[in-house]
Amino acid sequence: MGKYKIPFNKPSFAGEENRYIADAIARGHISGDGHYTKQCHALLESELGVKRALLTTNCTHALEMSALLTRCGPGDEVIVPSFAFVTTVLAFVMRGATPVFVDVLPETLGLDPRHVEAKITPRTKAIVALHYAGVACEMDELLALGQRHGVPIVEDNAHGLYGKYRGRWLGTMGALATQSFHETKNFTCGEGGALLVNDEALIERAEIVREKGTNRSRFLRGLVHKYTWVDLGSSWLPSDMVAAFLWAQLEARERIQSKRRELWQRYDRELAAWAPKLGITQPRVPADREQSWHMYYLLLRDTAQRERLIDHLERRGILAVFHYLPLHISEMGRKYGGREGDCPVTESVSSRLLRLPFFNSLSESEQGEVIGALHEFDG
Ligand SMILES: *Cc1c(COP(=O)(O)O)cnc(C)c1O
Repeated sequence: MGKYKIPFNKPSFAGEENRYIADAIARGHISGDGHYTKQCHALLESELGVKRALLTTNCTHALEMSALLTRCGPGDEVIVPSFAFVTTVLAFVMRGATPVFVDVLPETLGLDPRHVEAKITPRTKAIVALHYAGVACEMDELLALGQRHGVPIVEDNAHGLYGKYRGRWLGTMGALATQSFHETKNFTCGEGGALLVNDEALIERAEIVREKGTNRSRFLRGLVHKYTWVDLGSSWLPSDMVAAFLWAQLEARERIQSKRRELWQRYDRELAAWAPKLGITQPRVPADREQSWHMYYLLLRDTAQRERLIDHLERRGILAVFHYLPLHISEMGRKYGGREGDCPVTESVSSRLLRLPFFNSLSESEQGEVIGALHEFDG
């Protein structure tokens, strides 16, 4: 932090975290699947209407579980956006699958269904749809494509909890969906995540791979007499103290989301006259979806303008950041054949996008300072 008066992100506390952690300790079950983990599962399942929610140690691990559950392996292909977080892709590559990079649409920065269709082959084992900034991808088109070719959709919903697409919650449409509760997300427990299982046929195996490849979950429910090693897997359960922290945040979900909505709408409103004068574009959400208020970004005219704006803000003690260097032309992406020009929208957006400070405890006056500093920037 130090150097910046207004950081890009700061962990925010909902209030009851310490109390619930102390309670988890007092209950005497501090490993995985204790009282608070079960409460988080029940909340996600009942509120979103997903068949099974499983807390994980982080979103990356939920993605690794997805790669196992969709049986991605050597010789298989997985269709992924190039405009993505590294582990959105890495989780599948870890199983030996080949990433096939596709471009995003300029309006939503989500997968371009036509580009996806062109890349489907008999080896395609999964399509990963990342709802960037919690704005849904073209899910009806992607689900239809998946159905036609017998390929499951995995939603990387790290940004999108409580966003909606045509009335449906994000994270409830793909066979599987992954959530992140990292410090930078709307709801956090420091490091944490969840796997949402919508395809009933995958529930039992999801429980097994999360429990070290054993059928311990079935044993605990009295469905089998002893538990034993039955499949691949790892140890992906967060401790119940971590779940207790998360529970405090999920319990405050309406307050947190409404604060984030206010922040987002204020940036949008108070930058509306300024941005177009400088050729800067504000994010837009199509009328058939509701965003999750995860981030506020600007699309600058070009990279040079972005550099000037970053410097301008830095001089005023404000940190703004950009992200998602195109994965297809990263050092690893090139090893899978990625070349400049393969994903032109990704390449363009990635060189121009800038994220503004955005976190639950950003105060009105701090946000006012950021907006004031932007208004002083003349191009
Ligand atoms: C944060 C993030 C992840 C990884 O989350 P972790 O919980 O840190 O593993 C994956 N995908 C996207 C889109 C993210 O933003």
